[in-house]
Amino acid sequence: MSVTRTGPLPAGEAAEYDVVVVGAGVVGSAIARALARHPLRIALVEAADDVGDGTSKANTAILHTGFDAAPGTLEARLVREGHRLLTAYAREAGIPVEPLGALLVAWNEEQRATLPRLAEKAERNGHRTTRLLTPTELAAREPHVGPGALGALEVPGESVICPWTTTLAYATQAVRSGVDLHLDCRVEKVRPGDPYHRLVTRRGVLRARHLVNACGLHADAFDALVGREDFTVTPRRGQLLVFDKFARDLVRHILLPVPGPLGKGVLISPTVYGNVMLGPTAEDLDDKTATGTTEEGLAGLREQGGRILPALLDEEVTAVYAGLRAATGQEDYRIAAHPELRYVTVGGIRSTGLTASLAIAEHVLGLLADCGLDPGPARPLAPVRMPNLGESFPRPYRDAGLIARDPEFGSIVCHCERVTRGEIRAALASTIPPGGLDGLRRRTRARGGRCQGNHCGAEVRALFEERPYGEGAR
Ligand SMILES: Cc1cc2nc3c(=O)[nH]c(=O)nc-3n(C[C@H](O)[C@H](O)[C@H](O)COP(=O)(O)OP(=O)(O)OC[C@H]3O[C@@H](n4cnc5c(N)ncnc54)[C@H](O)[C@@H]3O)c2cc1C
Repeated sequence: MSVTRTGPLPAGEAAEYDVVVVGAGVVGSAIARALARHPLRIALVEAADDVGDGTSKANTAILHTGFDAAPGTLEARLVREGHRLLTAYAREAGIPVEPLGALLVAWNEEQRATLPRLAEKAERNGHRTTRLLTPTELAAREPHVGPGALGALEVPGESVICPWTTTLAYATQAVRSGVDLHLDCRVEKVRPGDPYHRLVTRRGVLRARHLVNACGLHADAFDALVGREDFTVTPRRGQLLVFDKFARDLVRHILLPVPGPLGKGVLISPTVYGNVMLGPTAEDLDDKTATGTTEEGLAGLREQGGRILPALLDEEVTAVYAGLRAATGQEDYRIAAHPELRYVTVGGIRSTGLTASLAIAEHVLGLLADCGLDPGPARPLAPVRMPNLGESFPRPYRDAGLIARDPEFGSIVCHCERVTRGEIRAALASTIPPGGLDGLRRRTRARGGRCQGNHCGAEVRALFEERPYGEGAR
């Protein structure tokens, strides 16, 4: 087991793997974790300097039930199964999840007429607990919803989750179970071969008997490296606004729109960190790096949000961000085995990949077997327990026992998010330490609050730059 971020990759036999998984987003990390149950040499290889640094860090963080998936698709099956698996895993690993339930709100007659059809679709997807609500019932559940709502479909089981901890938990468990994680290591060329494919990276060469493409937005480009051109990924940008914690009391459920042709539409949702989120937009672009927000996009969100929850617009915005969905022109995932190449493509993981990640991983294990991989016997993985970032669960600054054992957990550095020196220190010394301040924020919430690091930024940076807690992965 090792985590590397700089320097040449291991050479000789140490660079030979049974499986190399390329891309350490939530999907690649889940696959590496699933493979780690078997006596195999596994590498997880990532272009960025951290895990979960692509689309997996910038989504709406809903653990979907899959009630509205297109019945019969692979996505419908894997989202349903992934919801079950991730709900259980989150409990075991300490990933914050809040099962708030969702309300799909209808704002015109056409949308109201769609609600019973969505309830039927949910039934076909195995969800029999949805219920139609009258405007009065909706107002009782959500007193701050704007005027003009014509009713809603209640979907119990929809939850909010911490996406950052999810990816980190998978990758941490994979590494602790023997997977080599190579960061800052983009695969630039692939020379398919037998028994090994040769992977050329900026930091050296890796050899892989089997290869998994979990490159997210770049899954089509990676396919091209191995000589396949099965689909094209179009980045579909989703911009979001995050409102300050004072807004949290305005909303109890995840408020979903009735879905349209470009996806799930604009929602308002509490986050596990105690904020309220509004978004995302859905804009098809050409540029896979266009993760900036636009004045026009944010104004459009405010207009839509103001109709759903008028009082939200009186609250302050803490942050804005955007993520890029991997759209491929097909209303389903693009997961395929290529036995002749001992290669599996995991593409088109659009707007549900966080939810489906554990089920995708199990599916990919099956496909690797179709490609000739004999994984050997499975063993249970040693459990991981991740630091809690969620407001509905005990945070370290409130834990008298922990503070008595280590007073640094009582010493707050980031006052907006109540992040302690002890948490920052633990993150810097963890199995996969952050590669930068953004990675540290995803592990602790430090600098993520209403002042965005204005107050604590210098101290957090100083702690990060001291890095006295273990130099292994830097
Ligand atoms: C706005 C928005 C809202 C969403 N909301 C939800 C939601 O509420 N619930 C939900 O379940 N899902 C949601 N999603 C979808 C979810 O975020 C994605 O499906 C998921 O993150 C995809 O994960 P991934 O691992 O496939 O991709 P990524 O996270 O992008 O990971 C791919 C990784 O591959 C790396 N890579 C690429 N090429 C190479 C190479 N050549 N060599 C090495 N590494 C490489 C990249 O650097 C990247 O880190 C949303 C997405 C967006 C954009």
